[in-house]
Amino acid sequence: TQQLVWPMAQFGQIINMYQRAEASAERIFGLMDETDALEDDTGSDDLVVDDGQVAYDDVRFSYDDEPVLDDISFSVDGGDTLALVGPTGAGKSTVLKLLLRLYDPDGGAIRIDGQDIQSVSRTSLRQAIGYVGQESYLFYGTVRDNIAYGSFDASDADIRAAAEAAEAHDFIQNLPDGYETMVGERGVKLSGGQRQRIAIARAILEDPALLVLDEATSDVDTETEMLIQRSLDDLTTDRTTFAIAHRLSTIKDADRIVVLEDGRIVEHGSHEELLRADGLYAHLWGVQAGEIDSLPQAFIDRATQ
Ligand code: ADP
Repeated sequence: TQQLVWPMAQFGQIINMYQRAEASAERIFGLMDETDALEDDTGSDDLVVDDGQVAYDDVRFSYDDEPVLDDISFSVDGGDTLALVGPTGAGKSTVLKLLLRLYDPDGGAIRIDGQDIQSVSRTSLRQAIGYVGQESYLFYGTVRDNIAYGSFDASDADIRAAAEAAEAHDFIQNLPDGYETMVGERGVKLSGGQRQRIAIARAILEDPALLVLDEATSDVDTETEMLIQRSLDDLTTDRTTFAIAHRLSTIKDADRIVVLEDGRIVEHGSHEELLRADGLYAHLWGVQAGEIDSLPQAFIDRATQ
């Protein structure tokens, strides 16, 4: 699989920071649970996802006094994939944290099928959004339980079907005790690519309406990369997906690409539209094509900072 060269290095850093802080949906949502300010208002309605259309409407956000996002407006049609692209610190993770309600915006609103996410119960929001991150979290338990996590009524057949769709079934079968093999801390050590496929199987089983995908940088071999790509294709098809994208295929095939710089959307469109626009995205693409010499110094500085 081809990759964007400098964004890869950049995204690697983000991911490493991001994964350390919030390695998984469980931990992301664990963090949400600790966020008292964002407790449900009593009586808030449950989110009802129909098409899975998501709209950011003039969203503003600062962590402290420092503005991080400004004037963020875009929408994703139900079932589409939106790729977030941009230099480190541009605000990509923050855009997704607001969707997950780790934080609430200072202004504007995020709506899922017309419902302001601040007006619905967090439990229902949580259930609607799946998360697959690079360093996906496995707890100490069997492979089966790690896949079934959150899907209490999953049968063995469901679990196996999810593992097959995630291209994980074959390696699982080759583990000492197959699906009963203990993994996670103190368990059998799995590679990053294997952990990722278990996380994908988990998400396939959960079948969430929306998916947040924090794509892996590639420390896996090409064959594993291909397997992961295939399983991700399966997972994202017909599911509204937000991807902090590293894979060229994700970026290129995304229905919409939002390019962020310094907390603002500088460009959005399809891959072809953005190439034609000849802006930041086209420059990133140029780097990928090995044209680093033609880049403005500022991009090189950012790429190597
Ligand atoms: P990206 O994902 O594009 O790298 P982030 O959304 O992680 O960007 O960060 C956007 C900006 O917000 C950066 O300047 C970053 O330093 C800052 N930031 C991110 N998380 C926090 C936080 N928890 N507290 C304060 N500032 C933060």
